[in-house]
Amino acid sequence: MKAIKLSAPRGKVTVADVAVPAPGPGEILIKVEASGLCYTDVHLCDGDWEIVESLQKPDLTLGHEAVGVVESLGEGVTNRSVGERVAAPFLRSSCGECKQCRRGEENHCPNATVLGMSHDGSHAEYVLAMADFVVPVPEGVTPEQAAPLACAGMTVLGGLRKANVGIGTIFGVVGVGGQGHLAIQLAKAMGAKVIAMDIDPAKVALATRVGADQSFDVSRPEALGELMALGIDVAMVTAPSHEAHQLALAVVAYGGTVSLCAVPGGETPISMTMCGFKGLKLLAQAVATRQDLADILDLAASGKVSCEVETRSLDTGPESIRALRAGEVVGRVVFVP
Ligand code: ZN
Ligand code: ZN
Repeated sequence: MKAIKLSAPRGKVTVADVAVPAPGPGEILIKVEASGLCYTDVHLCDGDWEIVESLQKPDLTLGHEAVGVVESLGEGVTNRSVGERVAAPFLRSSCGECKQCRRGEENHCPNATVLGMSHDGSHAEYVLAMADFVVPVPEGVTPEQAAPLACAGMTVLGGLRKANVGIGTIFGVVGVGGQGHLAIQLAKAMGAKVIAMDIDPAKVALATRVGADQSFDVSRPEALGELMALGIDVAMVTAPSHEAHQLALAVVAYGGTVSLCAVPGGETPISMTMCGFKGLKLLAQAVATRQDLADILDLAASGKVSCEVETRSLDTGPESIRALRAGEVVGRVVFVP
């Protein structure tokens, strides 16, 4: 089968012909219909995250936003059936026994395994997943629409919930990429007033198209002052850049919350003094739970959220990764094998 492979952090990306894997105990083999390209794939290629490098499998198949049809079942699997359409997220498994798992924070399990990082991912014709960690895709959501929800969508839903975004919240989103354009729609559905920020006019336009109340091109020097006057209660960072994190800290109101949903490479210098004097709450979000995925798939089925998708073949893997790194992708690239 065809697969997009990464030799090692800072290594080479190729499209290779590899063997179809066989499901082990507790696993299922999924025939991939759609696999979303996430900025995390770029981070893994570039070796941006030293702290997780030891978890990264050498000769890795990338991809962790998978949707497809169950092809076969491994030993002991009784809760899934052949032919069923499922979504397989970034969180490939958690231990179920640790403190974090027991209190419903399985996405922060220290013993987690990760699709497309510790194990081969879904930019391929077939992928293995753990039967207990996939979620059925409801009727009315296409595979291409569902795939980006299995990382980008569920992450921002988790972040919005954690930050208690609701009716009347003034919600700012920094970055209108795959995550950001979904966060805008979810925050609107929750009753928030949505302020979108980006440096790319095409992404500012996307924000307006998907329902932002106000969309700012933050490359304009006067934008910062205008944003600071708005009283943003929750500023969510969905762009993986240091500038985006610093902008969120600058524009959020006193006593507000900064929700971190995208992680840049390297370290962001931030002023703890400013955080202290502004009385800010910093909430970080490492993906989200299976329940968040099930919920966002239901929201998509009921038309509350839809993803701006561009489908491409696996052969475009290296070029698509380059384009995402260069900021040229509007919405989400989804590979269709
Ligand atoms: Zn992702
Ligand atoms: Zn655990």
